[in-house]
Amino acid sequence: MKFVTFLLDGMADQPLEELGGETPLEIAKTLNMDKLAKKAAFGTFLTLPKEFPTSSDVANMSVLGWDLSKFYTGRGAIESYGAGFPLDSDVVAFRLNLITVKDGILEDYSAGHISQREADELIDFLQEKLGNSKVLFKKGVSYRQLLHLKGSEFSADISYEKPDSSHGMEWKKILPKADHPKAELTADLLNELILKSSEILSSHPINLKRIAEGKNPANLIWPWSGGKKPEMPSFFELYGKKGAIISAVDVILGIGRLGGMEVLRPEGATGYIDTNYENKARAGVEAFKRNDFVYIHVEAADECAHLGDLPNKIKAIEDSDNRLIGTFLEEYTKEIKEPLRILILPDHPVPIRLRKHTRDLVPFMISGSGVDPDVSIQEYSEKSCLKGRYTGLKGRELMDLFFQEGIK
Ligand SMILES: [Zn+2]
Repeated sequence: MKFVTFLLDGMADQPLEELGGETPLEIAKTLNMDKLAKKAAFGTFLTLPKEFPTSSDVANMSVLGWDLSKFYTGRGAIESYGAGFPLDSDVVAFRLNLITVKDGILEDYSAGHISQREADELIDFLQEKLGNSKVLFKKGVSYRQLLHLKGSEFSADISYEKPDSSHGMEWKKILPKADHPKAELTADLLNELILKSSEILSSHPINLKRIAEGKNPANLIWPWSGGKKPEMPSFFELYGKKGAIISAVDVILGIGRLGGMEVLRPEGATGYIDTNYENKARAGVEAFKRNDFVYIHVEAADECAHLGDLPNKIKAIEDSDNRLIGTFLEEYTKEIKEPLRILILPDHPVPIRLRKHTRDLVPFMISGSGVDPDVSIQEYSEKSCLKGRYTGLKGRELMDLFFQEGIK
């Protein structure tokens, strides 16, 4: 049997008045998920335990069943692997956002989803002006960049605010802080880099052009979630299955790379609503020629929810259903002659009203081969999963259930 997971990032939400008490997932037209739901088992799963940050790396590592207390060292490290920068043992890697601040307020965690070309040029500029052999700016995707501090004097024990949870805050009041005296040097350096970036980025031609075009400028850097290389067991060691991960974003690909999985970023995968869903579907089917398990991650709904964009969040769910899941199932039936089991879930909710991740349990559905359905449940939603057979699974319980011979 083969096993596919569709991880629809940030899809779960709360009932909304403007939708008559329904959620975006309930309102979205999802013919494929509806069909799968008729033959599925349902439940809820804890992806963001309270002692960890509410970020997607934590949530996706949870879904895949790696023990966070042993292997989680911060997003910067994971994302570096995703971007193709393996870490020496003396490097602390931070995720670095290019952000927009205005009148002292953090306005936009993504600098208007800055283009790749502009972001690349700004990272080169930052390296030239602020970098050296110990301070290294590394290129990622759009606003999602990296900062490596190389040297045994640097520490990962830094408290930080997540930029996508800090809209409307005064940025000078939420700068990174040392958790221990031995991390003070690192915190001081990060503060200095942030302040200097403010001076040199505002007048950069790219930003002047963006402002003239009515776009948000990338006028500040925001380093966060620093960590060293995690020593994780491979996915194969955990479950005895060969796995692949498909995503547009480095943080998810990094988890795959650290977990010894095949890692694929199909052409046209953007991490946003303009992503090429069909290419992701085809890459998934193709990956099954070499793997038992394929994890297809879609960022679009998460991004729309952070932007508070309800129509596009609903569209992202509909496109994921129709263009990704629909295309995948069609192509799979043609090309792979083995039974298939399907898991669908978000990694965490992003309620459109809050525009940030919450720790609520996520709804999941397992359908396909060898699954005894929950006959009283006919659709996949936040509410229906609460009535499912499995409540509050955690750790590797979800993957163990998914791979179980029969789900009864
Ligand atoms: Zn996420």
